[in-house]
Amino acid sequence: MFKTVHNNLQNWYAKNGRHDLPWRQTDDAYKIWVSEVMLQQTQVKTVLERFYFPFLETFPTLQDLANATEDEVLKMWEGLGYYTRCRNLHKTAKICQEQLPLTVEGLVVLPGIGQSTAHAVSAFAYKTPVPILDANVKRILYRVFGVKEAKERVLWEMAYALFDERHPYNYNQAMMDLGATVCQAKKTDCEVCPFVSVCKAYLDDPLLYPQKKIKKATPKRYRHIVIYEDDGKFALQQRQSRLLHGLWGFVEYEEVQNATVIGQVVHKYTHFHLHATVYHTSHPIEGVSWFTLAQINTLALSGADHKILALLKS
Ligand code: SF4
Repeated sequence: MFKTVHNNLQNWYAKNGRHDLPWRQTDDAYKIWVSEVMLQQTQVKTVLERFYFPFLETFPTLQDLANATEDEVLKMWEGLGYYTRCRNLHKTAKICQEQLPLTVEGLVVLPGIGQSTAHAVSAFAYKTPVPILDANVKRILYRVFGVKEAKERVLWEMAYALFDERHPYNYNQAMMDLGATVCQAKKTDCEVCPFVSVCKAYLDDPLLYPQKKIKKATPKRYRHIVIYEDDGKFALQQRQSRLLHGLWGFVEYEEVQNATVIGQVVHKYTHFHLHATVYHTSHPIEGVSWFTLAQINTLALSGADHKILALLKS
């Protein structure tokens, strides 16, 4: 049914595909998996420029990642955000040690690996003929099939229905590139699109597919952060919250008395905006670890704690 558009897509990909991406130059499942996890919430440019190569230089193999401490892995992830991804990456490496499973079914039961990542690793590393379903591919599916809302199960059905079993590897790569460059969230270039002859949204208004969710205002959270200083050292604690678990940070309170305000810091997380009032004091405190500024630079801190550190240094 889609033979002609599949041929169009192959031709489009041959001319326009991003063939030089480093994770397309390898069939090492570990490297492909790391790229997939990094790219889940982060743009290709950022991953390429700052994170992918340093991470793989530090942990060149799955076994190297498994042997590392959580602090070491978090430090290499610092700045990428969404730290649950990083902790799950490390947990999965510890479970697998030398080799990731060779099937979608084996991959999908591991920490942090959902259907989407399992399909992507299988398709790209093992050349398994299965479709992938990332955000770019989903957008194309909504538009080609003219569907405004769909459950994950239905999206997978559409992914399999449109899939090109004759050229599975190039089809998947092409779909990602098409979504990133032609069928974008806020702009489409339908005239050059390989799917234009079958696309239902093209006959309507592509930007109405999928239906936009009404965005709620992002809530604000107010916190008080105290920088305790004693003899050139500063008090830090390892965060326990799910969001930042394992990262180091200055001491946080709901309320503070008897400390000097040195400034304000605002940091935007996806689900809330943190508004922190920052204090400095030399009062004693227990249950913390003490570090010099040079030592703090070797720890993994959240983005908010980096801003607080900059405030302290200034
Ligand atoms: S024809 Fe337009 S809307 Fe349809 S898939 Fe292509 S770029 Fe997207």
